[in-house]
Amino acid sequence: MLVLGLLVGSFLNVVIHRLPIMMERDWQAQAEEIVGPNPYDPPRDQPVERKPYNLVVPRSACPKCGAMITALQNIPVVSYVFLGGACANCGNKISIRYPLIELFTGAVSAAVAWKFGVTWYCGAALVLTWALVALSAIDIDHQLLPDDITLPLLWLGLLLSLAPTVSHVGLPVTSGSSIVGAALGYLSLWSIYKLFKWLTGKEGMGYGDFKLLAALGAWLGWQSLLIIILISAFTGAAVGIAMIAFRGRDRNIPIPFGPYLAAGGWIALMWGEQLTGLYLDSVGL
Ligand SMILES: [Zn+2]
Repeated sequence: MLVLGLLVGSFLNVVIHRLPIMMERDWQAQAEEIVGPNPYDPPRDQPVERKPYNLVVPRSACPKCGAMITALQNIPVVSYVFLGGACANCGNKISIRYPLIELFTGAVSAAVAWKFGVTWYCGAALVLTWALVALSAIDIDHQLLPDDITLPLLWLGLLLSLAPTVSHVGLPVTSGSSIVGAALGYLSLWSIYKLFKWLTGKEGMGYGDFKLLAALGAWLGWQSLLIIILISAFTGAAVGIAMIAFRGRDRNIPIPFGPYLAAGGWIALMWGEQLTGLYLDSVGL
């Protein structure tokens, strides 16, 4: 499972890098359709041919010298270590992020497999986990949670609730819990956002955050929402304070909230039952 996780991590690297670029190209094309070509572009007789750019095409290449990355150089982590973290052709340094995301994906995938064992829900939990990794990294890079990931995740969570619950896993939740979880997940963050904006005139979150919590509510049920929000607010505050303390970060720079929501959601997926029990005990229920 660790090896599968490493391979998926390698694919997630591609998604994290390319999906935002694909979205930007889409927006540009749509804008041109509505307002016409950019007046500052040189005049042209024929519409520009756009080279295909998606998750498969073009093949991965060194950003500096353009040398294609061969299959042998594309083995997760191993290739990075053997090549000394540099392009085999020109010696250009390759970001440590790539192997780190591969290792991280491998580790969380192994944890999911260990927790859910040989059940069909293990596959579902892996899909959720991988989506959360990709969303977090894209949010950190671009302050953006693509609809292309959050919305399918939401539909999938709702649909999975139609399947019978795996007894010793406790998931998927019932359809009622899933539907209420999706709606309440969206509305709860949306109301916090409106209240915060009304009080301070600032925007603390984006609509992507609401959709992500709606998706998590669909997967884990409304009962998990409070735990998810508490974990993400707590870790978000802790990391935010640490960043201001150590790096003197300007507190007005927006900190993406998506990664904390994703972390909260994943922790609730893995240890939700124990955490909810702990919480209910502490309030005396
Ligand atoms: Zn190179």
